Amino acid sequence: MSGMTDSARPFLNRRLAEFGTTIFAEMSALAVRTGAINLGQGFPDTDGPEEVREAAVRALRDGRGNQYPPGPGIPELRAAVADHQRRHYALSYDPDTEVLVTAGATEAVAAALLALLEPGDEVIALEPYYDSYAACIAMAGGTRVPVTLRPSAEGHGPFRLDLDELRDAVTDRTRLLLINTPHNPTGTVLTREELAAVAELAVERDLLVVTDEVYEHLVFDDAEHAPLATFPGMRERTVTISSAGKTYSFTGWKVGWVTAAPALLTAVRSAKQYLTFVSAGPFQYAVAEALALPDSYVAAFRKELQAKRDLLAAGLAEAGFGVHRPAGTYFITTDIRPLGHSDGFAFCRALPERAGVVAVPNAVFYDHRETGAPFVRFAFCKRDDVLREAAGRLRVL
Ligand SMILES: *Cc1c(COP(=O)(O)O)cnc(C)c1O
Repeated sequence: MSGMTDSARPFLNRRLAEFGTTIFAEMSALAVRTGAINLGQGFPDTDGPEEVREAAVRALRDGRGNQYPPGPGIPELRAAVADHQRRHYALSYDPDTEVLVTAGATEAVAAALLALLEPGDEVIALEPYYDSYAACIAMAGGTRVPVTLRPSAEGHGPFRLDLDELRDAVTDRTRLLLINTPHNPTGTVLTREELAAVAELAVERDLLVVTDEVYEHLVFDDAEHAPLATFPGMRERTVTISSAGKTYSFTGWKVGWVTAAPALLTAVRSAKQYLTFVSAGPFQYAVAEALALPDSYVAAFRKELQAKRDLLAAGLAEAGFGVHRPAGTYFITTDIRPLGHSDGFAFCRALPERAGVVAVPNAVFYDHRETGAPFVRFAFCKRDDVLREAAGRLRVL
């Protein structure tokens, strides 16, 4: 025994060894050091609706939520979530047995995977995937099986899901499909036809589905978000996850939620109660009010974001990037090959010095690193003047 400080043995265990630090820490530090504009991490630089912020202040002052809220979340918020699902999607969930409030969508994903997976179970996830998925699958002892979204053959079209590839990825050990639509980082919004095929496969192979729909309202042009739980045979096998962070521009509040049939919800709640137990007491009251805002709020925010997408997309195209125009989310995935580069990591490490802008290499979201190598992600959930300044700076490339 050489004691606690034996440096020959890393402290981080084998399950997590490959997940040292996230790329966001490295890139954000680079942004601070160089004074670059940070379009790496996806958080808005303008807070959400004033009345929602005021609702949080009121809750705090009135002493609502300053002590442990109820384990499943405050009744007002669970009712508001159920009402939201009914209003937008005609999905009916019982606020007492089918809704769970979590510490953001991140905890919801973690709790779902920890609750539903046995060691060795295979999880199919759409690649590139949100960075917490791989780590959570690993923590749960599962095995991740990536199915890669690919740009359409004719150049810089949207990334699409190959349904045959998805079908072929299912084995006897597959337990769960981990779906994300609208999809970060590609901006792909799965179509009704694609979702129907995913649903059919889940039913046919008796798979559970965990679906991360945090960008449910942030879709552009004529794209339409349809929750997987609305498809035939899916309500009983689907854990639906969303969050207030992206829809209402309060990413720091970390208020998320799960809707699922009682047996599934109970399982997820069991894991969740030993992660955070509860969180964000006063913010839960504020988010209940946010969910009750008229639909015009979401419509206006969506329009605003779409204009930001157009602004940054035009700037990136002008700078010479291949632009995969996103149908949803906060992000534009670009191709750096038209600029004469092929390694997104090297490109992003050099970009702050070269152009004063920070972006994220999509390769970090891939198991097949070489497939993701030429792609780089920019966030457009920023003030127009910041986007214009970034576009101007990128012209030096
Ligand atoms: C931002 C994001 C999350 C995290 O949501 P929180 O509510 O902040 O935990 C989860 N999934 C995707 C795809 C995201 O982009």
